[in-house]
Amino acid sequence: MTMNPLYFTAGPAATYPTVGKHLAQALQDQIPSISHRSNQFRSIYQDTFEGLKELFDLPAGFGVFFLGSATEIWERLLQNCVEEAGFHLVNGAFSKKFYDFAHLLHKKAFKQEVPFGQGFLPENINVHYKAEIIAFTQNETSSGVATPVETIHQIKEQNPGRLVVVDAVSSAPYPIFDFTKIDSMFFSVQKAFGLPAGLGVWIANEKCLAKSELLESKGMLTGAYTKLTSLWKFFEKFETPATPNVLGIYLLNKVVKDMLAVGKDEIRQDTDLKAIMLYDYLRESELFDVFVENPAHQSNTVIVANTRKPAKPIIDALAKKGFIIGSGYEKSREQIRIANFPATSVEQMESLIEAMQDLEEQGTGNRGQGTFII
Ligand SMILES: *Cc1c(COP(=O)(O)O)cnc(C)c1O
Repeated sequence: MTMNPLYFTAGPAATYPTVGKHLAQALQDQIPSISHRSNQFRSIYQDTFEGLKELFDLPAGFGVFFLGSATEIWERLLQNCVEEAGFHLVNGAFSKKFYDFAHLLHKKAFKQEVPFGQGFLPENINVHYKAEIIAFTQNETSSGVATPVETIHQIKEQNPGRLVVVDAVSSAPYPIFDFTKIDSMFFSVQKAFGLPAGLGVWIANEKCLAKSELLESKGMLTGAYTKLTSLWKFFEKFETPATPNVLGIYLLNKVVKDMLAVGKDEIRQDTDLKAIMLYDYLRESELFDVFVENPAHQSNTVIVANTRKPAKPIIDALAKKGFIIGSGYEKSREQIRIANFPATSVEQMESLIEAMQDLEEQGTGNRGQGTFII
């Protein structure tokens, strides 16, 4: 295999096709050396803000903040938006970690949990009466379960006084959120944006800011330089409290602009098309089964399948053919995970499916003959 392998991993993921070009330009323009107190940086921040505003249809009253990772944002969010207690919808490893962080930060946290591979139906969600935030992991990367945006919006309508916060790390910009019905959303760039890791993007509204101000006024610890009141103060002049990942922000700006040039609808339609192709194949396959049973909860951006034979030789054989896919998140299960992000073209998804079909024929029809035995 002389060709570069194609990455179908959920994160770090395949880079967006234009990243190389922008990276070369950034180095030529010495972007990593510019001061984060310069007009040049301020205009990069502002431009990125405007781009994200358009991509997500952000109404007035939202700020966009740059941190190190989504994991860091879990912590910032809990510190700044929870006085006593939060409520978490837990259905896999990432949503569980967000919930666990609350305890690590000495907050109370209540959870509603469903088994791995299942999602939440709005009529079954019972928000704890003490909850100040309702935390959704819109796309649970470990299990391939997505929560329909309508469910999130509906819960906000039923809980106007609570902050609805959404981890969309492995789905944004695919889901179409109504930002009048969520208070905060965040992602990190190495997933569906196809950028090098090291940048977390936190979007939060003035209600989150007001909450953080309230906690501060009560003498609570909301952080030092990265407390929301400080992030917001700097955001108003398009600066950051500390030296940020300027190169990462620059690249995000460029890729957001490229995505807007392709078109938000086109990107989503492409994602739908590739997801349908992959799910259709998995359903017909004799080697794989779609893991998430409820079609309404099957993620279109991270697709998980059970394997009827041990997963590792399948993953290894695909890697030999130049296709890097993810293993299952739960060690006890025979699973594969395949990311379906905007960086992957329809043709590339077709070629992965063909490679899986080939493998299936070799493994079932030509046992022991080729290099691959399953
Ligand atoms: C990857 C991931 C995270 C953590 O992102 P980092 O950038 O590694 O901190 C959080 N939530 C979900 C759903 C993820 O997929």
